[in-house]
Amino acid sequence: MRKNIVAGNWKMNLNYEEGVSLFSEIVNMVKDEVIGAQEVVVCSPAIHLSSLGKLASMSSNVTIGAQNIHQAESGAYTGEISASQVKSIGVSHVILGHSERRAYFGETDELLAEKVNVALKHNLVPIFCIGETKEERESDRFFDVIKAQLEKGLFHLSNQEFAKVVLAYEPVWAIGTGLTASPEQAQEVHAFIRETVANQYNQEIADNTTILYGGSCNPSNAGTLFSQADIDGGLIGGASLKSRDFLEIVKVFN
Ligand code: 13P
Repeated sequence: MRKNIVAGNWKMNLNYEEGVSLFSEIVNMVKDEVIGAQEVVVCSPAIHLSSLGKLASMSSNVTIGAQNIHQAESGAYTGEISASQVKSIGVSHVILGHSERRAYFGETDELLAEKVNVALKHNLVPIFCIGETKEERESDRFFDVIKAQLEKGLFHLSNQEFAKVVLAYEPVWAIGTGLTASPEQAQEVHAFIRETVANQYNQEIADNTTILYGGSCNPSNAGTLFSQADIDGGLIGGASLKSRDFLEIVKVFN
C-alpha cells in the first residue's frame, strides 16, 4: 500500500548556516520523537544539499530533495545542476512541475516530461506538482487542467516508471496565501487524480501512488487534510521553515 510522506519545500529561503541548523533540528526531533509519517523529505536550495546529505545519512527516515534539475545529462548549461550531480551527494527526491517554476521560469509540460525522464534515469523520485490557478478554479476548468498536466508530464511513463513517482496537488491559489483548500475540495481533486491514474495505468498502481497536498498547510489544518481518504501527506512551504511546525505536521500520522 502507498506510503505517507511529509515533504518540506524551503524554496529560496535560509542561508547556509540557517539551513544546516534547521535541518539538524529536524533530524534530531525525528529521532527523539515517535514519528508517524513513513518518510520525511526536506527539499532545500542547492547550496545546502551536500551538507544536509551528510547529516541525512545519520538518520533513517529523513531524506533530502532538490527543488529542480536540468533536463540534460551534463554539458554547457551555465548555472544549472544535473540529476546525476544531485544524486552524487545523496539526494533522493526532486520537486518537478512546481507552479512557481511553471509560472516564473516558463517550464512547460513538455520540458517537465524530459526532466521526469532524467530524474528517473538517475533514480531520483520526482515529486511532481500539479494544480490549477484561481481563475481556472473559478471557471470550473480545474479537472481538465489537472488531467492535462498529468497526461503531458507523466503519462508517457511505463507502469514501472510511473510507480516511482510521487504526486503533489498544489492549487496555485492556496500557495503562500493562507487560503487552504478545504479538506473536501482537496479530497475531491485527490480522488479525481487517483481515478485518472487508474484509468491510464491500473487500479493497483493508482492505489499505490502517494498523492500529497500542498498550499498553506500548517499544524492546525494538516490533521483534517491528511485524514481524507486520498490525501497521503503534504508538501509544505512556509511551515517547513520552523522546525516545531514542520514536526507537528509530520506527527499528524502518529
Ligand atoms: P506554502 O505551504 O507556503 O503555501 O507553500 C506550498 C508549496 O508551494 C510547497 O511546494
